[in-house]
Amino acid sequence: MTQALGVHYLLELRDCDPRIIDDLPEVQRILLEAARRSRATIIDTVFRKFSPQGISGVVIIAESHFSIHTWPEYRYAAVDIYTCGRIDPLSAVGYMIEQFRSGNPAFVMLKRGLLPQPFEDLQFRLGRPRLPVQEDPNEISEWFFLDFINPSSANLIKARRLIFSARSPYQEIEILDTQAFGKCLMLDGRMQSAQVDEFIYHEALVHPAMVTHPNPESVLIIGGGEGATLREVLRHQTVRRAVMVDIDRQVVEACRLFLPEWSDGAFEDPRTELVIDDARHYLTSTGESFDVIIMDITEPLENGPSAPLVTYEMFQIVRSHLKPLGIVAHQSGSTGTSELHFFASIHKTLQAVFQYVAPYSIQITSFAMPWGIVIASDALDPRGLTADEVDRRLRARCEVEKLRFYDGAIHQAIFAWPRYMRSMLEELGQVLYDDGPPLYRPIDYAITIG
Ligand code: SAM
Repeated sequence: MTQALGVHYLLELRDCDPRIIDDLPEVQRILLEAARRSRATIIDTVFRKFSPQGISGVVIIAESHFSIHTWPEYRYAAVDIYTCGRIDPLSAVGYMIEQFRSGNPAFVMLKRGLLPQPFEDLQFRLGRPRLPVQEDPNEISEWFFLDFINPSSANLIKARRLIFSARSPYQEIEILDTQAFGKCLMLDGRMQSAQVDEFIYHEALVHPAMVTHPNPESVLIIGGGEGATLREVLRHQTVRRAVMVDIDRQVVEACRLFLPEWSDGAFEDPRTELVIDDARHYLTSTGESFDVIIMDITEPLENGPSAPLVTYEMFQIVRSHLKPLGIVAHQSGSTGTSELHFFASIHKTLQAVFQYVAPYSIQITSFAMPWGIVIASDALDPRGLTADEVDRRLRARCEVEKLRFYDGAIHQAIFAWPRYMRSMLEELGQVLYDDGPPLYRPIDYAITIG
């Protein structure tokens, strides 16, 4: 968990008016006015003109500094604004773009001075931004959010509005409105689910295991903060009891408030029991067993809350809470070729514990990479079900017209892996143990580019 002491804006002003960025009094005036507009306290200025052209200048403010260096011959100016967060640099950014007549501006925002953050209660920080929040929801701003898909790659997502932002004791929570995917839940800078295609992820995670079980009555969901996994589980009329155990009350509450379509009333269903607890602690303190266990957890970042949930020891605990025909579905991370060693490790760890282990991969556009799920059981193999049998069971248990992704044909298709990936799954990865090295190292900073 981290908090930023300051924010650094690196402003790229290309295609500027070369006369303006070579005019010392004008450059000085614009920077000072920009600092004033951002409500900074100005302390001092130093500006120099170079021969034959170009200007360097700095405005020292109580909150840190504005600086500029210009290259009139390239119509380019580099502006840095570093602030400790008590001012509003975004208004200065817009002003400078306009005054220097930049036809092609861009800026990068870096969080600086990241420190450990103590516990904070749930807070709705609209108007108290760590990112450029719009106070007026009708006013659309556009900037890019960096989604850390996995340790080696990230995806830039054009965001329109930051709806919610908080730091819980376990993770950073952000709910964004994005141009491409509608509303999105991000945890620790990673996409969890998006409005346009969350149904693919949640149907694919839940139904193959649920349908494989002949009569799923009791279901445990580990994680699943949005409530959409719960929504899909409850579609099965066989279910009498669904326990959802999520460690983070703030995620659950923020999703209920800002993403109510995800749970769609599932938390109010009389079959639901919501438990706020660490899932491993919950399982070691209950004697209850379940027909189906769905593990809908975050990426196991080093020292993160889900790291202890993907080990051999944890899967033994999970296994001991399954009824005789019990079955587990586990969201197991990206199946992109560059990341397959992570997925392969979770697959190998489940293979070390369960008799039947069936991995599958699905496409979810907002995740930017193919995504993997593994089903494990000592009694049931989902690959043995025909498409007709899947459709028959669905018709008997669910309102099938409400499903948008899953049916018998998809059930058959998702377990097929290309030859090169079958080989990679065998070659890569290792069984994960509690005292083994961490699977994922966190990237504890965020950058936005707009
Ligand atoms: N769809 C997601 C993905 O692609 O990673 C997972 C979604 S869901 C939001 C993940 C949930 O797992 C979060 O709400 C988080 O609080 C929960 N979680 C993480 N570690 C946990 C733990 N040790 N016990 C229970 N819940 C946990």
